[in-house]
Amino acid sequence: MTKPVSKYDALFDEIEIAFTEQKINLPFDLLQERMRPIYGTGPLPEAAEFAKIVVEFYEHSRDTYDFDKSICKFMGKGNAFLTEVSRWVKKVNNPSVGTAGLGYDANRDEFMMLYNPGFMGLLTEEEHNGVITHELFHLIFKHVTSRRKEPHIVCNIAQDEAINSLIVKDGGKLPPSCLMPGQRPKTPKKGFSSPEAKLAHETYADIIEGSPPMESSEYYFELLMTMNQKGKGKFGWNANGLFAAGKDGEEQVDVGPMDNHDLWDTIPEELRGLVEGKRKSIVEKAVRKADGQANGWGNIPESVREEIRASVSDCVDWKTLLSRFPGKHIRGKTRTSIHRINKRYPYVHSGRSLSYLPLVLIAIDQSGSVDNSQLEEVFAVLGNLARKTTFHMINFDTDIDHESFQVWRRGTNPVVKRTKCGGTNFDCVQNWVESRDNKNEYQCVVICTDGECSKPPPSKIPRAWVLTRGHKLMFQPDQKDIVIHMDDKVSSGGLNDHVR
Ligand SMILES: [Zn+2]
Repeated sequence: MTKPVSKYDALFDEIEIAFTEQKINLPFDLLQERMRPIYGTGPLPEAAEFAKIVVEFYEHSRDTYDFDKSICKFMGKGNAFLTEVSRWVKKVNNPSVGTAGLGYDANRDEFMMLYNPGFMGLLTEEEHNGVITHELFHLIFKHVTSRRKEPHIVCNIAQDEAINSLIVKDGGKLPPSCLMPGQRPKTPKKGFSSPEAKLAHETYADIIEGSPPMESSEYYFELLMTMNQKGKGKFGWNANGLFAAGKDGEEQVDVGPMDNHDLWDTIPEELRGLVEGKRKSIVEKAVRKADGQANGWGNIPESVREEIRASVSDCVDWKTLLSRFPGKHIRGKTRTSIHRINKRYPYVHSGRSLSYLPLVLIAIDQSGSVDNSQLEEVFAVLGNLARKTTFHMINFDTDIDHESFQVWRRGTNPVVKRTKCGGTNFDCVQNWVESRDNKNEYQCVVICTDGECSKPPPSKIPRAWVLTRGHKLMFQPDQKDIVIHMDDKVSSGGLNDHVR
């Protein structure tokens, strides 16, 4: 038996259908709930008049929404873990995402959270916190960085089920009509154009309603995929979503996650490892922060904390660390160019073009413990990157050996020559990089050494210390430096280990 529909809901549904036909998409479910206290009982205006009121209500909440204030409230909740993760994610006002979405900006090498103020402005404070948590969980649980399962739509739904179930278990709240295992998704208001489409949606709703909470996204994924057997060719998943084959041909049935997951597909495949490294370092910092405070994890259950800790605690092998290092800091370097005409001052100022130039300096300590076989291992790792960049190599001991300067180009093997054999002084590398001739030439420096020397001044460009086996750095490295021990254990963590 269907529930009797109130006059308010009937009028709202009528307006929603009219708007949808005109391709005007507003967060109708939310608007309907937020306007209910005002219009739910009592006299209602004419449909045309009410449509105007709905738009005004939407625009008012959008225009008065203050993201900074709302995020401060979120951070004030005392969950140090999520607050720390959030600090590393840039927030971008972007109405084209519809609701919200998490992505990675390859140009700026940072994660970003896009939000639509029209949607966010309608949320209660608790729901708002729930949506922010939802987006951060996509980052924390590797949804952004893992390889995507096909069909994407099923992967999206399964991931939202896993995350939302966890948020609610924590005592969190989410906007109405979020996907939740155990809860039946709403039937589309405009109904269905064929019995097959109706059956497809009913089967889908049965699966979600029958799903247990707190499972992994892989579990929900497998469950959703049973649609294809149930549909026997009449309905099921294809690359575009849920299809139903009616008399008039194939049609799409409207299902999907609350937020935008499409941005994940824009991460270039070759950058995935790098972006996953970035995720790991952010989550690692947040874990440390949360573990160091009395209630740093808020309501996140201990079992999930364990899972998050495990996702960052595996030792990364030195090769992975080293291969990530230059990639993180290589940007195309701007060079003046006479080929490209400056748009604002044509033929007055030269144009600028982006090109990949020698950007990485490898400085090799000439002390006896840095042997050639270990250097060859270092070059084997960096050689994979030599496709995109050129390396400069130079030897040093207490001074730079200018004679030893070499350019290592793609496809060639570097010749490792031993040219000096004095003591060691790292300051000379620093001074050389920052000298007038080399200023702005390098974007990062890799120093191969046994570490036995005193500390040089902080580096203006990113610096990696690659320490030969059995040695360690004799000083506290600078906070921004990265230290890579060649004898570090092999990592067990891949991109596709357990994904919630
Ligand atoms: Zn989502």
